[in-house]
Formats: sequence, structure tokens, C-alpha cells
Amino acid sequence: MNAPSPQIWFITGSQHLYGPEALKQVSANAAAVAHGLNDALDANIAFKPIVTTPEEIRKVCQEASSDDTCAGIITWMHTFSPAKMWISGLTALSKPICHLHTQFNRDIPWAEIDMDFMNLNQSAHGGREYGHMLTRLRIPRKVIVGHWEDEQVRADLGAWCAVATAWQEMRALRVVRFGDNMRYVAVTDGDKVEAERVFGMSVNTHGIGDLVAVMDGQSDTRVDQLCAEYADLYDLMPALHKGGERHASLRDAARIELGLEQFLREGGYGAFTDTFEDLHGMKQLPGIAAQRLMAKGFGFGGEGDWKHAALVRVMKVMSGNILESQTSFMEDYTYHFDPAGARCLGAHMLEICPSISGHKPRCEIHPLGIGGKEDPVRLVFDAATGPAINASLVDLGNRFRLLVNQVESVPMPKPMPKLPVARVLWDAKPDLQKAAAAWIHAGGAHHTGFSLKVSVEQMESLAEMAGIECVTIDESTDLRSFKQDLRLGEVYYGVRGI
Ligand code: MN
Repeated sequence: MNAPSPQIWFITGSQHLYGPEALKQVSANAAAVAHGLNDALDANIAFKPIVTTPEEIRKVCQEASSDDTCAGIITWMHTFSPAKMWISGLTALSKPICHLHTQFNRDIPWAEIDMDFMNLNQSAHGGREYGHMLTRLRIPRKVIVGHWEDEQVRADLGAWCAVATAWQEMRALRVVRFGDNMRYVAVTDGDKVEAERVFGMSVNTHGIGDLVAVMDGQSDTRVDQLCAEYADLYDLMPALHKGGERHASLRDAARIELGLEQFLREGGYGAFTDTFEDLHGMKQLPGIAAQRLMAKGFGFGGEGDWKHAALVRVMKVMSGNILESQTSFMEDYTYHFDPAGARCLGAHMLEICPSISGHKPRCEIHPLGIGGKEDPVRLVFDAATGPAINASLVDLGNRFRLLVNQVESVPMPKPMPKLPVARVLWDAKPDLQKAAAAWIHAGGAHHTGFSLKVSVEQMESLAEMAGIECVTIDESTDLRSFKQDLRLGEVYYGVRGI
């Protein structure tokens, strides 16, 4: 699944009060900032001519809205730019906004500063006039403050550009479900029509037979080639090697992967779900196939969970590097209630993305215990360690909520030789007791998108772009105020009608 690379437009506001010479300088400075950011960031930042009238502002906002290659706009007020000029444009804009509150010079030129300099460099108050209008129009946006050459400013801008790119991806995302939701399960289900209205993504189902037909059409040569690739990339169990007693199962797994990938690519699908309750015509539940397709950038959700399949795909785009996204489908599995520090073991029956692995994965075959099919082949590994997040998208009946928990992936204290699945052990912030209680109060799912790359701030930006609530659980979470935030959210998002 290719990494999308749309443009982010760089739009600079000014006005005609200061004369043509000043505007020439504004334009040159704006171009220098835009090009400097484009060179420094892993984003495609396009300089647009400065805007100085309501007509110019409306035109560029309309163009940004209708241009599919534009994922969002960065706006900067180099001088004062009276904000009534922006009303018509901003109300026509349908793309995310980042307000870069910067100025061309980093320092005040103490010895040379005069009124010409003051006229030219008015971001400090120009940005407030502009910000007032965005607030008055109730338009959510990211505000980044600091000099444009500052490392933190650039990091924040780059992170926001990746979110805008991911949001653009979500607007057009196609999710395919093989089989329905796991019987009786609540949180993985939801309103797919409302999801398309709010997020743009479409979610549709194919009977498993449609997929099986594509799997059966894969040539033995391609199956052999993929088995050789498995042997090259992973530590294969001896029985799975060519000539080994379980090699036929590896070939079945490879056939499933080839069929799934062809089906997804031909259908233009960026994410998929399956369920162990509907595998008619398949020999085994997709294990290594789902894992490797996730590593290629596809979103996945188990048991028909289309919301987290979509979220995993979107978070992979948000990571900024689709093939090294360190982002996976995840499930809170079992706890370690050690008084010295409680931990949660995250895993799934099979489907954890190897992009989060801390080492070369092992390729193994073991019984599944449910589904009544043959033993599935899977990749087994311990996750890499470091700061991470778990994110969950839930349907509350009248609206969606995004829930994010800051966690720390920590080393396994002991080996688990009998556990045949990929796993991650995390220390939830502020601690497991408060984090799990808050998560449960917020109605979060047992499924999540887990990422070692995507930040809490990025998830907040995504929720703002979608116009939905984002609830975060981190080091500063206090349960009493957290519950109060949930109550306030019911009112605020209820009033907004989202
Ligand atoms: Mn599950």
C-alpha cells in the first residue's frame, strides 16, 4: 500500500497598507520560509503567492478545498492582515489548518530596529487578529508558535503535516470486511453509514468465497517464491522448511497472503477485517498473511472490527513512514498485577504487525483452539521497547469518540517459551489501575491501534480534523477530572451535533 504524498499549501497573509516595496519583501520572506520548511521536512510544502485581499483569500481557500492533491494549509500572518478579509475564505475551506505563529527574523535587531522593520514584522499581533477570527468561526486548527528554523517547531509542523496526510487518506479510505462482526460482540460493531459521513471512509463486505476464489487462482510458482521469502526473512521452525512435515501448511499460508494482497490491491482497499467465524473454503485463519500485509501498510482489524482496521491504516500513514510505521492492530490481553508495577500484556490470537518487532521474527505453526480450522502459521516476536500509544475509536451511538492512552513498551522480564504469538508488554500511564479505569469509563474497546511512532498530539489533531471528541489518558490523568471531562464532552459534542 503506497504512502500518499499530497501537498501542504503554505499561505501567507498581509495587506496593502504598507506599500508595494513592503509586500515584495513579505513575498520573498514567505517564499524563503516555505522553501526552507519544504527542504527540512519530510512533507511536500507548496509555496502559494501571498494573499492581501478578501478576493485572493477566498480564491486560494476554494482552490485548496477542491484540489485533491492538497491535504491541508499552513497559514502565517507576516504582517497584520485584517481578519474580516478572511471570513469568506475560511468559511469556504474544507481542508485542515495549521496556524504557524512565527516571524522571519529570530531575534530583534536591537541596533537597527526602526519603524520600517516594525511595519514589516508584525506576526506577534497579526497572528492574534487572525487567530481571533478562527476562534470566532469555531474552526479547530493546530497552532504552532516559535521561529520557523527552530527544531521543535519543525518537528511539530512535520508531525501535523503527517496527520493532514492521514486525514486525507481516511476521507477516501476503502475498508473491506470478509465476513461480518463476531457474533454478539458490541464494541467492534457500529454505524458504518455515520462513519462514512464523519470520516469519509467506506466500509463494505465481501463473502469469503470471493476471496477464496482469488486465493485458489495463485500459481504454485508464486507460492514457492513466497515460501522462499519467508525462509529468508524469518527464523522458520524446522517443520516448516521445504521438505519439513508442516511445509504444506506454510504453502497454504503463502497462498492466503497472495490472494488477500491481490484482492486488496485490485479493489483499492487500504484496510480489511476477517473473522474466525467465517472461513468457508479456507484451510486456516490468515495469520502471517494479516501480519505481513499490515507491515506493507494495510490496516487490519480482527473479528470484523472495521473501525480499528481503518484506524491502523490511518495511524500507519500518520507515522510518516508506511514501511517502518511501528504500528499494529493490538488487543489488551492479560495483566501482571505486580505491586511493584502493574503491566499489561498486549497480543492477539495471531495478527500483530511485525513492524513493531524488536528482533527478527520467528515463523511458527501452532494450533489455534478456536475456529475449527487447520493450524495457522504466524510470526512470533517480542515488540521493541519505548514510548508508545494505544488508540481506540468507539461508536457511542450518537457520535464517535477517539480514546488515546500513553504507554511505555517495556522489556519482557522473563521469556515465555510456551506463548505462540507476537506480544508487547506495556506500562500504562499514569499507572495500570488508573489507565484501565479511565479507559473503561470512556467506553474504549479491547482492540486498539498501537504505535511506537505516532504521538498523542497527532491523535488529538486527527480528532480535531474529523470534528470528534478525543479523550487522552496520560501521566497527568486524574480520574475525578477525567470523568468530569467525559460529562462535559457529552454536552459539548451533543450541542455540536456530531
Ligand atoms: Mn480480538
